Amino acid sequence: MTPSLDNFRRIVVKVGSSLLVDRSAGQPKRAWLDALADDIVALHGRGADVLVVSSGAIALGRTVLGYPAGGLKLEDSQAAAAVGQIALSRVWAEVLGTRGITAAQILVTLGDTEERRRYLNARETLGRLATLRAVPIINENDTVATSEIRYGDNDRLAARVATMASADLLILLSDIDGLYTAPPALNPDATLIPVVARIDAAIEAMAGDAASELSRGGMRTKIEAGKIATVGGTHMVIADGRVPHPLRRIVEGGPCTWFLTGQTPVAARKIWIGGSLEPRGMLTIDDGADRALKGGASLLPAGVVRVSGNFARGDCVRVVRDGGAEIGRGLVAYDADHAARLAGRNSREIEGVLGVTGRAAMIHRDDLVLRVD
Ligand code: GLU
Repeated sequence: MTPSLDNFRRIVVKVGSSLLVDRSAGQPKRAWLDALADDIVALHGRGADVLVVSSGAIALGRTVLGYPAGGLKLEDSQAAAAVGQIALSRVWAEVLGTRGITAAQILVTLGDTEERRRYLNARETLGRLATLRAVPIINENDTVATSEIRYGDNDRLAARVATMASADLLILLSDIDGLYTAPPALNPDATLIPVVARIDAAIEAMAGDAASELSRGGMRTKIEAGKIATVGGTHMVIADGRVPHPLRRIVEGGPCTWFLTGQTPVAARKIWIGGSLEPRGMLTIDDGADRALKGGASLLPAGVVRVSGNFARGDCVRVVRDGGAEIGRGLVAYDADHAARLAGRNSREIEGVLGVTGRAAMIHRDDLVLRVD
């Protein structure tokens, strides 16, 4: 049994360069994009948040700059990305805009998804855009990413974006309809695997190492993406994007490979917070806040009586009751000095105290793990 697309509320769709760019003309494939936009509108219209991770900047820019086919030096691909990203954003804004959807451009680097403070900022921006029903069009910020600090492929980037946005589904649109038992170009007996319950060594061995000229990722980076996604509580689908309505085709049960996760994004995030992060400080809270947290609320500044430790926004801190017992841990939304100034204050006073607007919660409930004892 594979899940139905109707059950997902936040979906990241990754579109590869070879799907989006007509190689010979060096132009976006407008008719194909229009059909994909119809599919996106259908998902969006029934309430799902849709985020697009779109490649194609380098492929579009290289034609404008007259670069010959073949590999590019890093500086040349960065220049091509700088030129092509404008065209890429424009075409997305057009195809979505004519269907009544606002597009938003987001360019991220590896650091934005790895470093907790920046991660939290990007996460909050994505959340706000979702509330506003805008569709973010996301790509790597190739122009500032050097080779050591770069994803290089949008498969893994899309998986990190999906976990960052707590998406419950990631769809990788590719030039193949899923994972085969062996690379089909090399082995005519290879068969499509419809469902992968767990990515193990046998699955990894099936991936081979093929990549096409325009897109960086082969099946290997898609499997890497699958690991990032499923550990983060996001299901993933690899499907053929070369057909006119690739998302509708998945809805209708067309061929594809599902990589399933046993987690939800919030549960996976909580395991990560509770298990693998070293606390950098402590917030002592009053009885009212203690009760509110146990009822599922976020921790507001008003309930904090004391702040200790030298932590930064996004760090993990212990939450303790007055008297010392730890009741949980969470990612704090403020640096230690700001947290200390806000302790005991009403959320409406944040701007007056800090001189800037801030988050209403000291720790958002999705970023808080309570001890069970
Ligand atoms: N960020 C690159 C671009 O927009 C694409 C990377 C990839 O092909 O996965 O051209």
